[in-house]
Amino acid sequence: MEVSKIIVLARKHLAANPANELSARICLADAVALSDKGDFESSKVRALKSLAYSVGILSPVYARASGTDKSSSLSALFNGRVPKRVYTGRAKCCRCGCKGTYHEKGSVGYSRAMTKLVRGVAGGLAGDDLGNCIDFEFGNDRAICVYFD
Ligand SMILES: [Zn+2]
Repeated sequence: MEVSKIIVLARKHLAANPANELSARICLADAVALSDKGDFESSKVRALKSLAYSVGILSPVYARASGTDKSSSLSALFNGRVPKRVYTGRAKCCRCGCKGTYHEKGSVGYSRAMTKLVRGVAGGLAGDDLGNCIDFEFGNDRAICVYFD
């Protein structure tokens, strides 16, 4: 997406996340100043940063603006870590497997869980990052937990 359109989106969504609004405004101001100077490359980086503050990197709005698909947005959330398996089942309980199932990468259960996770996160679900895993609670006492070890 062109810089000018990303700037429009960034401005439109400024108030989407009040906690990040100031950061989003600063990035947007940088983006506009850089664009005025003709530095569209740097402007795009700052405009996307502003949008990331406002709507989050997993939002479809961000994905469209940045030209990345959802799975690459998810890998940004994983911050360089590579998932090995995913737990689906009861939240906040024993993780020996008696209250849920571990799905190894490449299995059908794994890809189903990831699809559900991408949807949840795009809808605003936040995970609890514990270093070796990120735990996402879906309500109804259900969790999807992505393990990196
Ligand atoms: Zn158990």
